[in-house]
Amino acid sequence: MARFETRAVHAGEHRIGHAADGEAADGEAGGRGDFAPISTPIYASTTFSHHDMEQTDRILGGEEAGYSYARYDNPTVAALEEALRTLEDPEEERETAAFAFSSGMAAMHTALTAAEVGSGATVLAAEQLYGSTATLLLQIFGASGVDTKFVDVYDVEAVERAVAEHSPRALVIESISNPLLRVADVPRLAEAAHAGGAALIVDNTFGTPYLQRPLALGADIVVHSATKYLAGHGDVSAGAAAAVPPYAGAVEGVRKLTGGILGPFEAWLTLRGMKTLPLRMQRQCENAREISNRLTAVPGIVRVNHPALKGHPDAELAPEMLSDTGGLLSFELEGGREAAFRFLNALQLCVRAPSLGDVYTLITHPATSSHRELPASRRERLGVKEGLIRVSAGIEHPGDIAEDIEQALQKV
Ligand code: PLP
Repeated sequence: MARFETRAVHAGEHRIGHAADGEAADGEAGGRGDFAPISTPIYASTTFSHHDMEQTDRILGGEEAGYSYARYDNPTVAALEEALRTLEDPEEERETAAFAFSSGMAAMHTALTAAEVGSGATVLAAEQLYGSTATLLLQIFGASGVDTKFVDVYDVEAVERAVAEHSPRALVIESISNPLLRVADVPRLAEAAHAGGAALIVDNTFGTPYLQRPLALGADIVVHSATKYLAGHGDVSAGAAAAVPPYAGAVEGVRKLTGGILGPFEAWLTLRGMKTLPLRMQRQCENAREISNRLTAVPGIVRVNHPALKGHPDAELAPEMLSDTGGLLSFELEGGREAAFRFLNALQLCVRAPSLGDVYTLITHPATSSHRELPASRRERLGVKEGLIRVSAGIEHPGDIAEDIEQALQKV
């Protein structure tokens, strides 16, 4: 089995072979001789026809592999899904299947539905969960009779008690939390969930398969906002879910009916971005570490949050769960929102934008972006203070990022 970096580059590509007689195997070469694309083409086609009706019937009936209709699947999307599958479960140890979605939220909605989170069910969810996931659970699933209980997932005993008390259908966590970068103990949480018959759904957007493969640690469904690190260039909205049986079949079935599949152009962009995932992540991890270290020495910063720093609550657990410490950090400025805004407005190189995982360094103010919808008291309790800043390190030279942050800090 090729290594992660090699799989990221080659996996999934439908490399159309050359015919033995020198004719292009992909049919008519347009009179320009033998050729074969090395990059899977963008198959902009809503439907696919076959040799005869009997074959169409077999494909629609699931007896033969093939493409029929773009809401079900598409060759460009399939190339991305195969690449994702090999990154999540390279040895096919768990019969994993991966599915691409039009956004991370579409993937999460399908994952929850596939885990049979429906009328009368209870879901346990991490208190620190991404705001829109929490709102999805409370508003959309809540309206159809789902009860969501939030729990501190960094206290595994509390999760075990909550599982015993509520018999939830699913436990929803994030491998690395936003914006304090807490690291979840996935194997223990998987055990806790399974003890009560619940599925463990892990949002691995911040981790990516480069840092962690949650399915190998016991998770049942992994969800990504591929808009972030997987695609990596700030130019595409995409989502993904990788699941093991029996959830994999359910994810595919729900996606077919709800129609959240990714389009072929976006799949092609995401697949292209994923080829450099290991290179980008390596650099982003190094940059985040360097910026964190430099910031710990700056007066006016109350604290810096990054799993590589000694004082981080999960500094010991992080190396067991992650292959590196990630591309994100956050820090708290003295002076609350006013100081935070002054800092953000003074940035010249780093981009002020409420996203993460791009080649550009992106800096945001969680209290007015990702956590805006939460009541101030809940934000405060979760440690999302008014002076908190989140940095998603890009791939620029670390000296340039640090100098921009330092000049902006001087203006505070
Ligand atoms: N999960 C996490 C951890 C996120 O940060 C985000 C978006 O910021 C999402 C899910 C949702 O992803 P998308 O915006 O692609 O729907």
